[in-house]
Amino acid sequence: MADSSEHAAADLPTDGFDYEHVPVTDQSFENALAKARNGERLAVADGIELITTGTDVDGIDQSRKELVLEAADRRRAEVVGDEVTFVANLNNNVTTACNTGCLFCNFKDTAHAFEADSDVEHAGFTKTPEESREVVESMLDRGIYEVTSVSGLHPGFALNEEHHEILRESDWKETNYKPPERYTADPGTYVEQMAAMSVGDVHLHSMTPEEAYHARRGTDWSYEEVYGELQDAGLDSVPGTAAEILVDEVRDVICPGKIRTDDWLEAMEAAANVGLGLTATIMYGHVENEAHRVLHLDKVRELQERVDGAITEFVPLSFIHQSTPLYEHGVVDGGASDDEDELIIAVSRLYLDNVDHVQSSWVKYGDEQGLKMLNCGADDFMGTILSEEITKRAGGEYGEFRSFDRYVEMIRAIGRTPVERSTDYEQRRVVDGEPPYGPELGPCADGTPLLREDEGARAGGDGLAADD
Ligand code: SF4
Repeated sequence: MADSSEHAAADLPTDGFDYEHVPVTDQSFENALAKARNGERLAVADGIELITTGTDVDGIDQSRKELVLEAADRRRAEVVGDEVTFVANLNNNVTTACNTGCLFCNFKDTAHAFEADSDVEHAGFTKTPEESREVVESMLDRGIYEVTSVSGLHPGFALNEEHHEILRESDWKETNYKPPERYTADPGTYVEQMAAMSVGDVHLHSMTPEEAYHARRGTDWSYEEVYGELQDAGLDSVPGTAAEILVDEVRDVICPGKIRTDDWLEAMEAAANVGLGLTATIMYGHVENEAHRVLHLDKVRELQERVDGAITEFVPLSFIHQSTPLYEHGVVDGGASDDEDELIIAVSRLYLDNVDHVQSSWVKYGDEQGLKMLNCGADDFMGTILSEEITKRAGGEYGEFRSFDRYVEMIRAIGRTPVERSTDYEQRRVVDGEPPYGPELGPCADGTPLLREDEGARAGGDGLAADD
């Protein structure tokens, strides 16, 4: 069944957009590179010159690109040395039901299909809090440190019972609310899900700004109040996904149903104000241009100043175009090139002089290109991302699990030091000795491997939200 995102994509132009922000500057590539090499704070114009390898040339100039990558790799070595970190984590998404209709998303299922009286077939899922708890408990003993949970905006989801009462009185078209009893499976409340997944001192990384908005829709509650209550229920840190591109003229195209840039920033600041850790992301390679990418970095750098360093890592996420409305309707004909991937990692390292860690995502880049990124400015190689679901939904090609043995082998192959980390990077352990290797930082970890490779291949995964 066509959902609203497909209709919206069909209305978009397929020959480009008339944007206010374009990659034009009065800076030169050489000056921008000199500033980067000297460790000077970069301006937006500098970032644009570096990420385009000069606005005076068409396309990517390969020799200039190498100079940018070299400067970023040197900066990485100065800031964090030669360690490559990764975390033992589990991905437990609660539901794929969502009405938001983002045009880059291949994760959601139209929420209507989940209603008890619907005959629409779908391959999605909704977990009750009890089911979420079982998933986390079963993996805790294997040694995970962190649970990551990012979900669709299920119309039956509310922060707590009081929120349900408020929403029951609301106009559901305005608040995107339907009572949970309308659905075949009840996700419970956000507070119940946090409490269910916060088992045995595991670190709970959840509730993006978009989810926090959903958890306060129809009320006058502040983001601080919402995040404070979620923290009391067990939330430890917030994934800065749903950021996409933090420029509204791009959001208007790819995710008109999502919160605006200012709302995203307000939610992140509020989460930091109540003491939650943060990560930040960019989802690039769709309809935005290089100026938008650098303006996004600028927003993140400013936010990091305001939250006093609460952002522990920056995660560039390359748009995976397959099975998305943007691709299916010809608005885009693919994602970012390898050159663009490398340059965004490098310019993120150089521009974000107040964020220590830049992540290379093997889910998005694969192992080979993911390793290359570790020589372009990145120093973190994501997490194991176990998942218990069988159905693979993300459309990415690179599997859903990496063992510690595989991590150690890959990282040593490029001459770097493999280090298991905690979510906030405060705890770090060099992985040495003899294989097989397993996690030691998780609350129940004792060095036993999380899964064997053949188990991991079988486990598959429930996929990640397209911007996760
Ligand atoms: S990106 Fe998130 S909010 Fe947007 S449609 Fe997908 S699941 Fe829903």
